[in-house]
Amino acid sequence: MMKIYEALKWASSFLREKGRDENAGEWLLMAQLGKTRAQMLASMQDELPALLLEQFQESVRKHGIEAVPIQHIIGSEEFYGRTFTVNGDCLIPRPETEELIYHAIEKKKKLFAADANLTLADIGTGSGIIAVTMACEQPELSVFAVDLSDKALEIAKTNAAAHDVQITFMQGNLLDPLMECGKKVDILLSNPPYIPESDREWMSEVVTDHEPSMALFAGEDGLDCYRELAAKMPEVLNRPGLVGFEVGAGQSESVAALLKASLPDADVDIVFDINGKDRMVFAEIKQ
Ligand code: GLN
Repeated sequence: MMKIYEALKWASSFLREKGRDENAGEWLLMAQLGKTRAQMLASMQDELPALLLEQFQESVRKHGIEAVPIQHIIGSEEFYGRTFTVNGDCLIPRPETEELIYHAIEKKKKLFAADANLTLADIGTGSGIIAVTMACEQPELSVFAVDLSDKALEIAKTNAAAHDVQITFMQGNLLDPLMECGKKVDILLSNPPYIPESDREWMSEVVTDHEPSMALFAGEDGLDCYRELAAKMPEVLNRPGLVGFEVGAGQSESVAALLKASLPDADVDIVFDINGKDRMVFAEIKQ
């Protein structure tokens, strides 16, 4: 038998030894007990029943030894106040993408009339976090979501159903499915793969062994998807129109230049995240 605090102590030293984030134990146990962090802290002196302890140790070992992401063990991740199902077929939602949502909503309010009937497309939807969150937060939007991976689209559909929103899902590469059916949209959002191939070698195996490469990497400089998106964008974007991309830190100037080249009359804006990193690029066409 072990008390909760003893189990957590064991987990953090085990994880430290394996070079993982020591706090992962807390997240795993919270999920397993169905408790908030505050509730768990308040029950630190409680004994952990033998079966729960065994399950907990098993999941800590899975993360520590096999480098399985804790979100895959738990089966979900929180994003913008909602729970999203995730697995190895899609990227795990990251907090930076919440900032893309926040700024996209602010810019949408400024650019379009409050009663406008707008369409939005999320390109490379993965787990569907951008499409589903925008549909939940701005219910008047008609939302399209595109992904190359059929398996990712399955997860995205599960998440759309769980949050009770109607989204039109399309399988294909970047803007191609929209172009093939002549669809134009008012708002285009994307968090495409943007990591340079060469970064793979120093990345954690928690990421490289368990998240899909096609969701992470995009050519030698990581800019391949932005190049293609920018080149084809004039064909799918209405006027007025809003584009919002998440980018890797340090990529914003290059991505802004790509957007300026393909949308010469757009206002292009680099936005920094709460950590002071250049993580978003927006383009607005006023009319
Ligand atoms: N749009 C999804 C997300 O933001 C997937 C992104 C990706 O696979 N690169 O998590």
